[in-house]
Amino acid sequence: MLKIYFFFKEKKNMGKIVKFTDGNKMQAGTLFCVASNYAKHADEMGTKVPSLPAIFLKPPQSIIYTGGEIILPEISSNVHHEVELVVVIGSECKNINREDAVDCVAGYAVGIDVTMRDIQAEAKKDGKPWAVAKGFYTSAPISDILPASDFGNNIPDFELVLGVNGVERQRERTSAMERDIPMLIEYLSTIFTLVPGDMIFTGTPKGVGQIQKGDRIHAELSSFISLDVRVK
Ligand code: MG
Repeated sequence: MLKIYFFFKEKKNMGKIVKFTDGNKMQAGTLFCVASNYAKHADEMGTKVPSLPAIFLKPPQSIIYTGGEIILPEISSNVHHEVELVVVIGSECKNINREDAVDCVAGYAVGIDVTMRDIQAEAKKDGKPWAVAKGFYTSAPISDILPASDFGNNIPDFELVLGVNGVERQRERTSAMERDIPMLIEYLSTIFTLVPGDMIFTGTPKGVGQIQKGDRIHAELSSFISLDVRVK
C-alpha cells in the first residue's frame, strides 16, 4: 500500500525528466536563456551585443524531446527557430569563478529556443518582458544530453546546425559566442545560483527564420547528437 502511494506521489511530482546518452536521467530545472550572444545574429535582429549578458527564462514545462511536436500558439503569426547549444548544470553553483565553471557542467545538448517573433517585437517596443514570446508550451525542444565527462575538463568547440524540411538554415561554431560558457556560468551563478538540472540556452547564431505547420526541423551538435521535431 505504502509502495503504491509513493509511486503515485513520485509520478505526480515528476516534472520534466531529461535523459543523458549514457542512460542517466535528471529532473529539468529552470531554463536560463541568453539573448544576442552571437554578433551576426544581433546584426540580423537590428540590435547590438549588450554590455552585460541579457537573460530571460523559460519554465521547464516548455521542454519537448526529439520526436516531439512544437505547437504553434494561435496568438502568433510568426514563430521562429533559434538553434542553440544547451549546457546542463550538474551541481549547485553559487559565485563560481570562470576557472571552475567546467566543474558545474553535467552535459551538453542541442536545443531550439522557439520564439514568437511578432509577440517579442511588441514586447520590445513596449519595454515588456519576453516570457510569453519565449516561454510558451513546447518552446524548448532539446536533444538527449552528452555527458560532460566524455570531454574531460575541456569545453568543446561544437558546430551547431539546423535545417527545416531538409534545407539548411543555421550553421555556426559555438566558439563564435560573444560570452563563452565559463563567463555565462560565472555571471548566472552570481545572480541566481544554479542548481542541478538547470540549463543554459547559450544563444543562437544567425539564420533564424519562420517555421510553419507541418515543418520537420532537424538540429545537430557537431556529429555527436541530433534533435528532430515537427511543427503542429
Ligand atoms: Mg535564443
